[in-house]
Amino acid sequence: MKLGYSNETYKQAREMLEKQRIRNERELENRRAILYKRSPRAEQLEQSIARTSIAAARIIFKGGNVKEEMEKLKEKNLAAQAELESIIRRLGFSENYLDIQYRCGKCHDTGYANDKMCECMKKICRDIEYQKLNELSPLELSGFDTFSLEYYSDDGSDAERIMRRIFNRCKKYAEEFSVKTYSMLFQGGPGLGKTHLSLAIAQEVINSGYGVVYVSAPVIFDRIENEHFDFQKSEFDTISHLTECDLLIIDDLGTESITKFKSAAIYNIINARMLSSKPMIISTNMTLGEIENRYDERIVSRLIGNMARIEFVGSDIRQKKKRQNSKEIE
Ligand SMILES: [Zn+2]
Repeated sequence: MKLGYSNETYKQAREMLEKQRIRNERELENRRAILYKRSPRAEQLEQSIARTSIAAARIIFKGGNVKEEMEKLKEKNLAAQAELESIIRRLGFSENYLDIQYRCGKCHDTGYANDKMCECMKKICRDIEYQKLNELSPLELSGFDTFSLEYYSDDGSDAERIMRRIFNRCKKYAEEFSVKTYSMLFQGGPGLGKTHLSLAIAQEVINSGYGVVYVSAPVIFDRIENEHFDFQKSEFDTISHLTECDLLIIDDLGTESITKFKSAAIYNIINARMLSSKPMIISTNMTLGEIENRYDERIVSRLIGNMARIEFVGSDIRQKKKRQNSKEIE
């Protein structure tokens, strides 16, 4: 599937690249300043090298023994360069210390190479559009470090042990993430940490450079339906992003209002991802029976048959946190 981006996205990507080029220049200026501070001689040499072309123009303008003069100038220039290189080496800097360091060697941070859009620019566009989708569900990305197992400790003997296992599994999933990894179905009542752990996975996988889309089911399926019936908004192709991204996380499946159109959209997205072995994490408060009652058989078989089921246990953590907070206030 060929994916196009909106004009707004291209504009933002070009602006980001422009900022990157300015940053590159600034970094070079900083490196130069450090070098000059440690070796004033390096500054003299660079200035002399920079003046070479003016000196050459002067020789030609003056006339006379042009060939000999030019030969001398060339030698002087080469000597200056060699001395500069040896200073840089002696100070322990890298060989290309005085070259601009581009983030992308292919397009030199212009976004285009050989008259084609560079892969780096495509990735920037993609991340901008994913970011826009992620903003639809305004949840703060929460990490593994803020997930507390202690809330499960008074829920009987097994809850803490099971949740520790789930926590470790999620952490491992995020750390070892690849585009061909398996999919997971998070099940369990509200307030058991499903959202927290899926956000933690999202954060870690985004940090590893993958394209992650995190959406809540009611928000995203409303949007897809609206987009479908509003032809003016066709610039933003939500379904393509949901099927193409490296990891799709759908939170709260089952809380969306269901229509025939949405049901088909859910099936199409899940099915397309499974056909291309792209991973998903879906979390839901529904039991298996409730899933079977709500969705048609094709969706049910994919949710239950093709995803690793992770059952969250315990009692509502949010209630406990609330109780604890009010105790602290007392
Ligand atoms: Zn590039």
